[in-house]
Amino acid sequence: MIEGKLIVFSAPSGSGKTTIVQHLLKQKELNLDFSISATSREPREGEEDGKDYYFMSLSEFKQHIKDDDFLEWEEVYRDNFYGTLKQEVERIWAKGKHVVFDIDVVGGLDIKRIYPERTLAVFVEPPSIEELKIRLKKRKTETEDRINMRVAKASIEMATAPQFDFIIVNNNLQEALEESYKLVKEFTQNQL
Ligand code: 5GP
Repeated sequence: MIEGKLIVFSAPSGSGKTTIVQHLLKQKELNLDFSISATSREPREGEEDGKDYYFMSLSEFKQHIKDDDFLEWEEVYRDNFYGTLKQEVERIWAKGKHVVFDIDVVGGLDIKRIYPERTLAVFVEPPSIEELKIRLKKRKTETEDRINMRVAKASIEMATAPQFDFIIVNNNLQEALEESYKLVKEFTQNQL
C-alpha cells in the first residue's frame, strides 16, 4: 500500500470520539494507526509527547505554519493551536497502514476536502448539549471557564454534522463502537 486511507472522527469535545478511536486502534485487523497531532497547548497529566500529541511552543508551531509543514491546522481555542503535520500521514502510510484522526470538525472537513475519495469522515454526535456538559465536568480535566468555552463551541460544531459522510449518535457506547467498526472495515476494504 503506497497511499492508504484516511479515517476522520470529528466531534465536539466530550462526545466520546476519543473512546471510539482508541477502540478501533486496538482492532489489529483494521490496520490503523493514529495520527499524532501537533499542539501548542500544555500537556495534561499523563499525556506523553510523541504519543498523545507532539507538544510544542506557540513559536515553534507558528514556524511550522510558515514552513508549510501542515496538512491542516487551526486555532481550536484561543492560543491553542492544533494541526496535522504532512509528515505524520507519510509516516503512517509508509508503514502500510491507514491513518485515523481524532480532530475537530473544521480540521476533519479540511482533510475530506484535500483527499475526497481517500477519506471517510465520521461525525460523532453527543446525545445532547446538556449531556456533553455533564461528561466534560466528570472528566475533570478543564476549568469551569474552559468547559463553558467547549460547550459554546459544541453548538456551532453540531451544525457541521451534515457535511460529514456519516453521523454516529453516541447514545449507547457499545452500539457506537460496533457501528464505527463496521463503517471503517467496509471503507478500508473498498478499492479506490
Ligand atoms: P484537546 O485539547 O481536548 O486534546 O483537543 C481539543 C480539540 O482539538 C479536540 O476537538 C481535538 O479533536 C482537536 N484536535 C486535536 N488535534 C487536532 C488537529 O490536528 N487538527 C485540528 N484541526 N484539531 C485537532
